[in-house]
Amino acid sequence: MTGDTSDPVEYDVVVVGGGPAGAAAAIFTARYGLDTVVFDRGAGALPRCAFLSNYPGFPAGIDVETFQAMLADHLETAGAELIEDSVVAVERAGAADGVADEATADGTSDDARFVVETADDRRVHADSVVAAAWYDGSYLEPLDDADAMFELHEHHGEEHERFDPEYPDHDGRTPVDGLYVASPADQRSAQAVVAAGNGAHVARCLLEDHRIAQGYPADIAAHYDWLRPASEFTGEWGDRDRWREYFENEAGDHDLSDERFVELRERYLDRAFETKTGEDEVERRTEQAQHRLLEHLDDEYIRSYLDDSVAVASDAGGGEPP
Ligand SMILES: Cc1cc2nc3c(=O)[nH]c(=O)nc-3n(C[C@H](O)[C@H](O)[C@H](O)COP(=O)(O)OP(=O)(O)OC[C@H]3O[C@@H](n4cnc5c(N)ncnc54)[C@H](O)[C@@H]3O)c2cc1C
Repeated sequence: MTGDTSDPVEYDVVVVGGGPAGAAAAIFTARYGLDTVVFDRGAGALPRCAFLSNYPGFPAGIDVETFQAMLADHLETAGAELIEDSVVAVERAGAADGVADEATADGTSDDARFVVETADDRRVHADSVVAAAWYDGSYLEPLDDADAMFELHEHHGEEHERFDPEYPDHDGRTPVDGLYVASPADQRSAQAVVAAGNGAHVARCLLEDHRIAQGYPADIAAHYDWLRPASEFTGEWGDRDRWREYFENEAGDHDLSDERFVELRERYLDRAFETKTGEDEVERRTEQAQHRLLEHLDDEYIRSYLDDSVAVASDAGGGEPP
């Protein structure tokens, strides 16, 4: 999307909220190849944490500012767009535009299900929306399911309306086709790592639905965002025919035409073989990843760490030469 806020732009997925839940969801949908945008501005829990000490992978914890910068960087690397703007309304496309199936300016059919409006007057079309703003559900009110979405809730003796955490099912799916909720998700929103895991899970459900809509038989529609070592593609699994056999067994009964079945099967195989990651590639990625981590560290800490390492090394090698 450009900085121009006048024309509607179409995305496969709009994620509302770039905290742990929304960022994780967007990383999965963008890495799959869906055009994904994250709008992130408004009340959030993550900025209220004093310091994150229980997010796995950070042995001494991580300060929230650095963690947020790493989330933003990860979104960019995954191919998702991050826009600092607040979503104020999500509407069904027909209702928002006053027409059932709108034709776009270039004459192509725009069958996006939603129109998303922001505080800074952006207006984008989206096929799917992932709600991931823990403290805000009000932007979903224009959808005509508001009665089911909101409930009265008592907090510190006062009653107020809130998004009903039981509106989505356990996988984040809702009665509104294309609308998924990664946050709020009741107790799954209460800790950052759980919220991130839930966001990723909801995105995988979205991807599964997307693949089923493309025609993949349900039994083989789940997407695994895995990179596999080259050693996994040796022997029988190095042969595309073995994978074809696997696909055909897993797919079971279906009513696809032969042509479509073959097309989807070959696409599945192409994706599987693209996950093959040889040792050179692992080495290249490792180097790139280490540099990327360094970019997020304070130069002063890097310098003092290096000075200390040099001092330790010279102490170890110190003394009189033999
Ligand atoms: C005081 C405090 C301390 C905490 N300490 C810890 C801790 O030490 N460890 C831990 O694991 N968890 C901690 N938590 C919980 C943790 O913050 C949450 O589990 C986690 O942030 C939930 O992630 P989320 O993505 O669901 O929501 P959020 O982190 O709230 O992210 C939602 C994002 O959506 C954005 N947003 C809101 N409305 C809109 C809108 N309309 N349009 C676009 N964007 C919007 C917000 O700006 C925010 O960035 C703490 C929470 C609090 C309140």
